[in-house]
Amino acid sequence: MQVARLLAIGTELALGQSVDTNSAWLAKRLAERGLRSQGHECVADDLDAIVDAFVRAASKADVVVATGGLGPTDDDLTRAAIARAAGVRLVEREEALRDVLAFFEARRRAMPERNRVQALMPEGARVLLNSCGTAPGIHIRIGRAEVFSLPGVPLEMRTMYETGVAPALPPVGGAVLRSRSVHTCGRPEAEVNDLLGELMKRGRNPEVGTSAALGEITVKINVEAASAAEADRLIAETAQVVGERLGDAVYGYDGESLAFSLGSLLKQRRETLAVAESCTGGLLGELLTDVAGSSAYFLGGVISYHNDAKRELLGVDGVLLEKHGAVSAPVAIAMAEGAARRLRADHALSITGIAGPGGGTAEKPVGLVYIGVAGKTGVEAREFFLGADQPRDFIRQRAARGAINWLRTRLLRGR
Ligand code: ATP
Repeated sequence: MQVARLLAIGTELALGQSVDTNSAWLAKRLAERGLRSQGHECVADDLDAIVDAFVRAASKADVVVATGGLGPTDDDLTRAAIARAAGVRLVEREEALRDVLAFFEARRRAMPERNRVQALMPEGARVLLNSCGTAPGIHIRIGRAEVFSLPGVPLEMRTMYETGVAPALPPVGGAVLRSRSVHTCGRPEAEVNDLLGELMKRGRNPEVGTSAALGEITVKINVEAASAAEADRLIAETAQVVGERLGDAVYGYDGESLAFSLGSLLKQRRETLAVAESCTGGLLGELLTDVAGSSAYFLGGVISYHNDAKRELLGVDGVLLEKHGAVSAPVAIAMAEGAARRLRADHALSITGIAGPGGGTAEKPVGLVYIGVAGKTGVEAREFFLGADQPRDFIRQRAARGAINWLRTRLLRGR
């Protein structure tokens, strides 16, 4: 399979002050064309460093795509670096100058003299026209590699990729790379690893790997095949085996959210949901309503942060609050029952916990969360310890996602 390398040029990227999303986007687009990315590199605005990056990338890959450093200022060094890496001069190109002038004319402005440098191109390069910015791009061959240099601004980069890069990519001999993500919740990563066993051995095709975020494990399947049909068949086969081994921990594919999965179940059953939130302060409602069309089943919720709100809006008994404390299983249950009753919902979820960083005790540490459920799957509370050392946002995210997943699995299992 042919391989690609990606370069993101800019000191702020190399220092981690901004994140290189261009390369992530490009790696996916190139994979669709059968070009596998071997890696991304962020390079500071330093001429020697950029030249070195181009020389290395071009000696190892069939295609190199760089973004950034094509602006008109002194720290925009990509043009000069490519010329040096290719061993050619920089020359002003008329079509590039026309492209820069056209940008200013369309805005009824005179081109500042400084922008003229953007018409300089390494000798022999093909000019990639920029329909939405001032920086023309560059396409040149260095050694065996086709090298493309695109603007850093994401919209300009994407447009130029579609118009100038994709049509010029070398034919890939039919080989394609296809990917699928299988999203799971409810099983730790080590357990997922054990269950997937030999599927995760290095060097296999399809290649299977896992990544964890906020208590959810994504199983990524990458396959290389001679044709798209063969790749799709291999992906479907592997996804089915993954599904069989992980059971109802699997909630969706390719970016589908947990809330979408719960919503689909509720829609099928024509049932409704309400929520009562304390420590998550509305996050559960936000995740549920991130799903377009969620008004078909989500009725609303109560953010009952203070005990008075728990009592007055949800009818939680003051004695329960007094006896067990707001962060307790009986209060979680009373909150869920109150939400189901007040909103006349088929199901209600509640969350009460200690998100920290303060407020924990030996008996009730930071990270202790109770999730309550009431309605057609019964009435129950569950205790979660999400880690006293975890940041507030992590605890809130885990709690909200844990609540959604709990109701999802109860619906699937009949309780
Ligand atoms: P150009 O080549 O278009 O002139 P530049 O390198 O001079 O671009 P900057 O001024 O550094 O561009 O960045 C312009 C904008 O593009 C900024 O908002 C920056 O955050 C964004 N950007 C640049 N490179 C990347 C990247 N690799 N990923 C995501 N955003 C990027």
